[in-house]
Amino acid sequence: MRKPIIAGNWKMNKTIDQGINFVNEIKEKIAGTDVEVVICPPAIMLDHLKKATRGTNIKIGAQNMHQEEDGAFTGELSAGMLSDLKIDYAIIGHSERREYFNETDQSVNRKVAKALASGITPIMCCGETLEEREAGKTKERVKSQVLAGLEGIPAETVKTVVIAYEPIWAIGTGKTSTSEDANTVISFIRESVGALYGTTVSEAVRIQYGGSVKPANVKTLMAESDIDGALVGGASLDPENFLGLMDF
Ligand code: 13P
Repeated sequence: MRKPIIAGNWKMNKTIDQGINFVNEIKEKIAGTDVEVVICPPAIMLDHLKKATRGTNIKIGAQNMHQEEDGAFTGELSAGMLSDLKIDYAIIGHSERREYFNETDQSVNRKVAKALASGITPIMCCGETLEEREAGKTKERVKSQVLAGLEGIPAETVKTVVIAYEPIWAIGTGKTSTSEDANTVISFIRESVGALYGTTVSEAVRIQYGGSVKPANVKTLMAESDIDGALVGGASLDPENFLGLMDF
């Protein structure tokens, strides 16, 4: 059985105090949940939230990390810095990073490998644009992103990766993919991983859906056979909404 994983991607929102207050507000309320709960705050509060969640079942993830060990990469954070803080997850290759910060399948692949080698679980993102969807290229696009992102990673390790399918047209727009549609794409991603790495791996890999997920639609999405969780932006910013995402 794959353990459901709900991750909040706060993007560039909240101050340190607001972040700490948020986790203090939710930590007792989700103490008994069977869901893996992850918060991915802005980098400046990673250490604070790691400390504020000590002894709870809340995991902390970064929104990005650099693929190189260290060096002259102004503004970047390395995997070593994140693992030094015992950060559990890192979102890799979010569509906003691909669009605004020139991330490519190749840099995503290097980041995924680096995260895994540093004991950080990558949440590797993929997803098609509206144009690609309308041109009937959704499957082709996500398959090439996923396989390129995993290239060279041994099967045993691929098992531990979390993949997030986030159709770009559904991010922050209020437009959600229907649950059936999201499940069709996610099943296809699982099949593509299975064709390359075998079914033991593809059955173990957790695949999230992301794009306008909220308490009102999480239940139908999570009822689908292949959707193992959600990567949530807007609805993860409010404690009540965030708690509502665990109710499926
Ligand atoms: P929204 O939930 O705000 O659509 O954002 C989705 C997302 O990009 C999560 O990474």
